[in-house]
Order: sequence, then structure tokens, then C-alpha cells
Amino acid sequence: MSYFKDFQVSDEIKKGIKDMGFEEPSPIQEKVIPVILEGGDVIGQAQTGTGKTAAFGIPLIDKVNQASHVQALILTPTRELAIQVSGEIQKISKYKKVRTLPIYGGQSIGHQIRALKQGVHVVIGTPGRIMDHLRRKTLKLDRVHTVVLDEADEMLDMGFVDDIESILRQVNVERQTLLFSATMPPAIKKLSRKYMNQPKTVSINRGEVTAPSINQMYYKVLERNKLESLCRIIDSEDIELGIIFCRTKKGVSELTEALQARGYMADGLHGDLTQMQRDSVMKKFRDSTIEFLIATDVAARGIDVDNVSHVINYDIPQDPESYVHRIGRTGRAGRHGLALTLVTPREMKHLRSIESEIKMAIPSQNVPTIEEVVEKQQESWKKQIINTINDEKDMQLFEPLVKEILADYPPEKVVAALMKMTFSSDSTFEDDGYNFGETGGAKGMVRFFINVGRNVNMTPKILIDEISELVGIPGKAIGRIDIFDKFTFVEVPEEVAPFVYEALRYSRINGARVNLEPAKPRPKREKRTFNK
Ligand code: ADP
Ligand code: MG
Repeated sequence: MSYFKDFQVSDEIKKGIKDMGFEEPSPIQEKVIPVILEGGDVIGQAQTGTGKTAAFGIPLIDKVNQASHVQALILTPTRELAIQVSGEIQKISKYKKVRTLPIYGGQSIGHQIRALKQGVHVVIGTPGRIMDHLRRKTLKLDRVHTVVLDEADEMLDMGFVDDIESILRQVNVERQTLLFSATMPPAIKKLSRKYMNQPKTVSINRGEVTAPSINQMYYKVLERNKLESLCRIIDSEDIELGIIFCRTKKGVSELTEALQARGYMADGLHGDLTQMQRDSVMKKFRDSTIEFLIATDVAARGIDVDNVSHVINYDIPQDPESYVHRIGRTGRAGRHGLALTLVTPREMKHLRSIESEIKMAIPSQNVPTIEEVVEKQQESWKKQIINTINDEKDMQLFEPLVKEILADYPPEKVVAALMKMTFSSDSTFEDDGYNFGETGGAKGMVRFFINVGRNVNMTPKILIDEISELVGIPGKAIGRIDIFDKFTFVEVPEEVAPFVYEALRYSRINGARVNLEPAKPRPKREKRTFNK
């Protein structure tokens, strides 16, 4: 283990770090800061939330001197991030005279030009707006000694590659280039080969990531019950602040409306909002006026709010990298975080590819039953009722009606009915979309027909292992298995049948492609009648 005091940086900086409350370097900081201090180009890779900003910020600030020109340029994907990085850099340089300026679109360019004219040491900006200033010649990069590409993977995802290349071509060639990223897709390696000088790569494997502790879990849900499942899950969790991810902008608006209608303190964030609307939503989230932020991947980029207790993937992310980014929004600054993912049958294969990428199996959890939710919610309901009683406002309005009802019904019944109206969500679980019909299985079981059998050396053990691994259910939940020469029958519990169906349709058993369909009911033995 190392300490900040061991780094070869000035005491002013160490004092700044101390004020920030950092006790010891995070793994990426410990490994990468000495390498950056050697002066060469460096690529730093570590998961979101592991302290990459200070990892480049500390050596960068150490290198800045009093000369009054732009000495360092930090490129970030979004305005939010530019502001955050600028804030962190200012804290690191609290005891050193360093002038920093975030530059991003949406802010008056005149204001930025005036600020630049006054002499700035470190510019932090989004590629688009930086390009704008370069074209106007209001920003000169010929004496920049350090360039940082922060969250490089996200910048490329957002289509900034041309801007970045064009900016890099305008920076003094005698520079140190640092690239930080949570992931290393090929496009980044290509960029680094083109614009970096024999970079050293420092990466932290997930196993070494000690800072954030994020518990991960997934829930099997059916498409039609998704909203109800989500509500049950959030009702049964102690959520401080939660970010709920949807795949599309439309998904964000719909879910936001649905949650608001059910009385949750929620608001949505997506690309179509104006900067002002976006800021206002973010402010509400930061000061906990809303409990849930519903967002797309793009809209959530760069959100760094410390007390996000839950990240919920309402829609499973498209790829493993976005999963890693999403869950990195919780468990920040050493706190505990919970990452919950809703998975529909068709998404099981997505989940498996995420698991294989992050090299761990995500445990599954059952959606809480209404009884479990009720139990959990009782305290909070009681509080709400008592608060309303104590509030007394507008209560007399209802008194005549109260008297009328109480004349006919016992108070316990009336209160229970009102509570049901207020607190229980109206929609119950609908039928799943998978109607397998009568399959000849035992009660509560669905029987499937599989088109391979002993011909591929199928055994009950192989089939049980395959199903329980693919679907995440214990082997003993699987029912009767009948293996024949060229086909097999297997019975599985109704609730997991859609998952078994989707998972096995895409699988192979002993190398053979598997086809699976609901079995036909066993033919009833016909009574023979004789025609006379
Ligand atoms: P990344 O860029 O890797 O996603 P950040 O640089 O945004 O991560 O850091 C995540 C959070 O962790 C920030 O709130 C930051 O202030 C905090 N942090 C960074 N380094 C340390 C440290 N050594 N000790 C404690 N907290 C830290
Ligand atoms: Mg970062």
C-alpha cells in the first residue's frame, strides 16, 4: 500500500488532497501517478468511479507553472463532466495558484473568450466547443505541455473522433498525452497509436478495484409485468437515490410518467431536454427533491452523484461496457451500492454475455410478492397516514361523507378499503405473453420437447446442468425428464418456462444445436368401441 505523501509532488498539492478527504490513493492512482510523473505518454484504464480524475489531475497540476498561457488541455465527453473535472482540479490545486476554465457548448462563447483572455493555465472542455475556439483563434494550444483525453471511450461513442484528432494535431508536438478510459475498444487503441508516443499502459482489473463495492443482482421479469415488477422491487428496497436506466428516450418518458402517476418522486433525463431542463432535473436529484432519476445511457454520461444507492437497469444494457458504466454510477466514494437488472426471457442471452465479459455470475433474485412489499411498506404507510392526520388541512371537507359511510360500515373495513385504494397498485401480474397451452406436464409444470436425445449422448445430468446454468434455477426445481433416442422431454416450473424456452432455443447440448418447443399433451388412451 502506498500513501499520497510518497508521491513526488509538491506539498501544496498534498495539502489539497488532504482537504479533499482522500486517505489513500485508489488502485489506479497508486499505479499510474508514478508513471505519469516520469513524463511519458500513458494510457490508464480502470472502471468508472475508481478515481481516474485525480489520477491524472495530481501529476498534471504538479507540472503547471506560473507562466500565463494554456499549459494543459483536458477533453471530456460532456458538459457535466467538464464541470466536474474542473471542480476536482480546483480542489487539488487549492493551495497552488492555478487558473482553470471549463469550456462547453451551451454557455455564452463571449464569456469564455473573455475568461481565456485573462490567462488560463488549464482548459477543460468538450471537443465541439474547443474546436469552435480553435477556429476563432481564441484558444491556442501551441504551448500546451499536457493533453488528457478523459473518458475516451465515451467520447468516441459520442462521435467525437474527428474533433479529437483535429485538436490533437493542433497541440504542440512536444507534449505529454494521457488517455483515460473505463474500457479499451479497438478504436481507442487506434487513436493512441496515431497520436501517442510509445504510451505505457496501466490498467486495473476488476478484481483489483477495491474502492466501489457494488452488489449486483438480477430479476427475471416478463415484458408485460415489467412496470409492476419494478415498482415491487423499488418498494422493497431502501433507496436513497436511484438511477433507473432505459434503452430509449421514449422509454424514459413513458417510465417517468408511469412512476410519477404512481406517486414516486421521479424525473427523467434524456437527450431531447434543453440544457436548462437538464440542469434543473440534475439539481432536483442532487438535493434529493426527487428520489429517482430515469435516464438513457447517453443522458447519464458523467453523472457523478455520491449517494446513489441503487442503479436499476429497467432495460438491460445493450453491451457489457455500458453495463459497467451504468453500475459505476453507484458505489462511489467508498459507499455501498446495489445494481439491479431486470431481465426478460429474450434478454437472458444478453445477461450471459455481460456475465462472461465481467467474469462473474450475477446472482438472481425473485421479484418480491405483494405480501413482501406490504410488509416492508407498512411503516411508511403508517407514517403517511399519521402525517396527514396531524396536518389537519382540508380534512373537514370530508367529514359529512365520513359520517355517512361510518353509519353503514365498520371503521376497520372503511380504513382498509381506503388504504387499498391509496397504497396498492392496481395492476396485478398479468398473464405472461408465453402461452404454452396444455403440454402434458405435471401440475404447475410446463413440458418441453427437445429435438435431441441419446443420439447426442444426452443425460439427465447434462440437461439439468445446462438448464440450471442458463436460467439460473436450482437443478432440483427441474421436473421429470424422459430421454429417448432422438428426442427428450423435460418439465420445468411454469414461472421459469419462458426463460427456459428462450435460453435453450439459442443453446447447444453436447455440440448439437437444440430446438425446443412446448410438448403436445400426452394422448389419452382411446376407448375402443366396436362398430357392430
Ligand atoms: P472515474 O473518473 O474513475 O469514474 P472519479 O475520478 O470521478 O472516477 O472519482 C469517483 C469519486 O471517488 C469522486 O467522488 C472522487 O472524489 C472520489 N475519489 C477519487 N479518488 C479517491 C481517493 N483516493 N479516496 C477517496 N475518494 C476518492
Ligand atoms: Mg472520470
